[in-house]
Amino acid sequence: RRGLASYDAVVIGGGPGGYVAAIKAAQLGLRTACIEKRGALGGTCLNVGCIPSKAMLNNSHLYHQTQHDLQRRGIDVGSVSLNLPQMLKAKDQAVGGLTKGIEMLFKQNKVDYIKGTASFLSPNRITVKLLDGGETEVEASNVIIATGSEVTPFPGGAIQIDEKQIVSSTGALDLQEVPGKMVVIGGGIIGLEMGSVWSRLGAEVTVVEFLGGIGGAGIDEEVAKQFQKLLTKQGLKFKLNTKVLSAEKRDGKVFVKTQSAKGDKEESLEADVVLVSVGRRPYTEGLNLEAAGVQIDNRGRIIIDDQFTTSTKHIKCIGDVTFGPMLAHKAEEEGIAAVEHIKHGHGHVNYNAIPSVVYTHPEVAWVGKTEQDLKAAGVQYNVGKFPFAANSRAKTNLDTEGFVKFLSEKETDRILGVHIIGPNAGEMISEAVLAIEYGASSEDIARTTHAHPTLSEAFKEAAMAAYSKPIHF
Ligand code: FAD
Ligand code: NAD
Repeated sequence: RRGLASYDAVVIGGGPGGYVAAIKAAQLGLRTACIEKRGALGGTCLNVGCIPSKAMLNNSHLYHQTQHDLQRRGIDVGSVSLNLPQMLKAKDQAVGGLTKGIEMLFKQNKVDYIKGTASFLSPNRITVKLLDGGETEVEASNVIIATGSEVTPFPGGAIQIDEKQIVSSTGALDLQEVPGKMVVIGGGIIGLEMGSVWSRLGAEVTVVEFLGGIGGAGIDEEVAKQFQKLLTKQGLKFKLNTKVLSAEKRDGKVFVKTQSAKGDKEESLEADVVLVSVGRRPYTEGLNLEAAGVQIDNRGRIIIDDQFTTSTKHIKCIGDVTFGPMLAHKAEEEGIAAVEHIKHGHGHVNYNAIPSVVYTHPEVAWVGKTEQDLKAAGVQYNVGKFPFAANSRAKTNLDTEGFVKFLSEKETDRILGVHIIGPNAGEMISEAVLAIEYGASSEDIARTTHAHPTLSEAFKEAAMAAYSKPIHF
């Protein structure tokens, strides 16, 4: 045991939610510590999530493009081959550099970084089992819980993850060989991103999805259909309305048992590697929340009010371990707002303006309401669509698949949702987020000059289509 330190704010978890909250707290003058047990900062996102997956997506896309797309652009290359160890190394370098960067930021901002596992002794006291052995105790006037999420295990233990042949996203980011056949269980974001990576590198990928469409929660149905068409063209196979029941390892292979959603048809799929991507669940193991009086709901999420306060007044909670979409930028915004509540008594996150991006090629991005949401709510709306095939820059880039779709309120023209499938959608969506944040109408966007020739002109023309008529289509 090493002495007792006392802090204005202790953040548990050093992911995007926790580390951002810790830096913000220190910037606002609070004596702050951040406790992280992984041995590296950045959480799921930086170590085994957003960052390594984007490294693999970018480089597998370049490989695929070099093999299948350069010739028509007038670039002849000799034989192209994959150096998978180097591709994995490039990914690890990106991760390593960024986690070290956060440590530097902690030093600059005078956040104490405590490496170990936190557990409540009482509402104000936390014990930390240190990674390098021993224990320490800290006292906190305010606590922010940001312990994130973990992979949801397959129900009933019917599939056991070994991270080699039956992998979660973590194993899928580190396969040492390209599998011949890969079965992906779940056609949500993880399944589609990691499925794309290994398909581009040469695997025969089959995605099994229980629902009738791909892309997970919040995707516009029209976009989801187009998305599936484009991925199918790239070689991914889909089995929709199909439920996976179990997976069994036999003779070096994995056999995946599926059943039609209606329950009338069963099938067995053979695979070299199976990716289980059926969602993530809140992670609170070992925190000893009872000692702090912090309550969770029936799905394991820590219950908070609209000021991020848990059932114990001086303990707040943010990110994947509580309500809302499991996204890094959502966790970061909550981290800042929660600290502002502690320091100033107010803080805010606009949950209507949180973008989602799928980093496949083309990318898929959206913010706000989907068309099916508006129909269900009985809202009268206009649709403005513009295809990238009619955009000059997309044409010059030979990258014309997809469209931009605006949804605006019929009476006021206020933008309610924007959905993009196409090149650079993930960057382009920020303009829509800003527009929604500022309460813009589609006419506001339509009358704003966009540089020519840029992909963003497709965004402007979709706004024109919602408000009046586009020029180029
Ligand atoms: P986490 O990042 O999970 O961090 C929590 C941290 O708390 C962990 O490091 C954990 O070790 C630590 N911890 C837990 N308990 C304790 C304890 N008792 N003591 C000390 N430390 C503890 N989101 C995006 O927005 N964009 C993406 O492109 C994206 N890609 C993803 C790809 C994959 C493969 C995965 C799995 C996720 C992806 N996500 C993405 C989701 C994103 O990673 C999460 O939404 C984000 O990491 C949540 O941040 P958080 O701070 O709430 O929790
Ligand atoms: P998800 O919830 O998005 O998708 C899981 C899918 O699996 C669902 O479509 C579900 O219907 C299906 N499914 C569940 N059980 C099944 C079964 N037995 N058989 C067939 N299909 C089944 O979960 P995920 O893709 O694992 O992602 C987890 C979280 O990580 C998400 O919240 C996501 O937001 C986040 N994430 C975000 C990004 C990004 O922002 N680019 C990338 C990766 C992950």
